[in-house]
Amino acid sequence: MPRMSPPVMPVVPAPVLATPHGTVELPTFLPDGTRAAVRSTDPRDLREVGIEAVMCNAFHLAQRPGVRPVKRVGGLRRFMAWDGVVVTDSGGFQVLSLLRRQGQHSAIRPGGVVFRNPADGTKVELTPQRVIEWQFGLGSGVVIALDDCTGPEDSPAEVVASVDRTIRWFRDTRTAFDLQCRQRRLENPPLLVGVVQGGADPDQRKRCVEALVEAGAQGFGFGGWPLDGNGVLEREMFALLSASTPPEAPLFALGVGKPEHLVALCQIDRRWVFDCTIPTRDARHGRLYAFNNAPLAADGSFYQNVHILDERNHRIDEPICPTCDCPTCTRYGRSYLHHLFRVRDGQADRLATLHNLRFYTRLIEQLRAGGRALAAGPAEIGDDDT
Ligand SMILES: [Zn+2]
Repeated sequence: MPRMSPPVMPVVPAPVLATPHGTVELPTFLPDGTRAAVRSTDPRDLREVGIEAVMCNAFHLAQRPGVRPVKRVGGLRRFMAWDGVVVTDSGGFQVLSLLRRQGQHSAIRPGGVVFRNPADGTKVELTPQRVIEWQFGLGSGVVIALDDCTGPEDSPAEVVASVDRTIRWFRDTRTAFDLQCRQRRLENPPLLVGVVQGGADPDQRKRCVEALVEAGAQGFGFGGWPLDGNGVLEREMFALLSASTPPEAPLFALGVGKPEHLVALCQIDRRWVFDCTIPTRDARHGRLYAFNNAPLAADGSFYQNVHILDERNHRIDEPICPTCDCPTCTRYGRSYLHHLFRVRDGQADRLATLHNLRFYTRLIEQLRAGGRALAAGPAEIGDDDT
């Protein structure tokens, strides 16, 4: 009897983030490079631990050093000697959430935001057009439109108003984007991302997505707060974003997140671009991550925190995570890193940051592999072989 040939599985191409600086498979994780630097690291370090793209902040860079010095040397990638992808956020989230916390609602106007910079008292106008000009000047590969973030305690009327403003600002953004492309005769323009607002109201979220699609958004960001008041991920709102956007469009889970949140969102979709300060900030505080020998799960049971400053690490000569191939774990034990933190040596932050970023890129590798397996046929998502 002839042997049965195995069933042919349909090949589902991996989702990607396509930019003029190159293409990145999704999901991906972007470290925080707000001010054109991922703190304590150098671009060679970032490449070594598998980072493919970084998230910078247009507002902060426009304040210091300003767009002009960056433009003069040929854009952010030249400025910071990074040959990977640069994504720039508008900075609207930081500015608008601060103004709202301070009760400065009058600063938020139909055409944008006008406020005094708390750093030096100067007047700043944040408009959709200006934010786009900054991002083109910085030479970003992915530009994110200015949006009006819905606050977690906003009334239904305020949620509607913030969605209205976000849609209006996106239309202004699109006009400014097209103008920049024409003026610069760009053959390979950056990707344009619109941010979806609407808080916990699914109808407002849908209304926002539809308007952004119509106005030409190529990627979609999750706007507002990704967690509810109890720190629980707004899973249903993320699922709605996944279900209501064009299937090829990358989805930006802005500000997410924790390792378990990456897993939870990849159970919904594979198209995520994650960016978060958590791994780099935690590293500088001596909070490191290590995989447990367990499958990836949204409850976070697959990893543990290693507090390197704990006294017991003084006596542990094994690396932070025995299966990790980062420049820290392959060379040093916990006792040495503990010592560097204790004597406050500058290397401590760098070695800790490289380890935490490698933990995230290893997590991403597993999520990608799990997604590919899911696309090929039924399988467990991201079995952890560590
Ligand atoms: Zn490591």
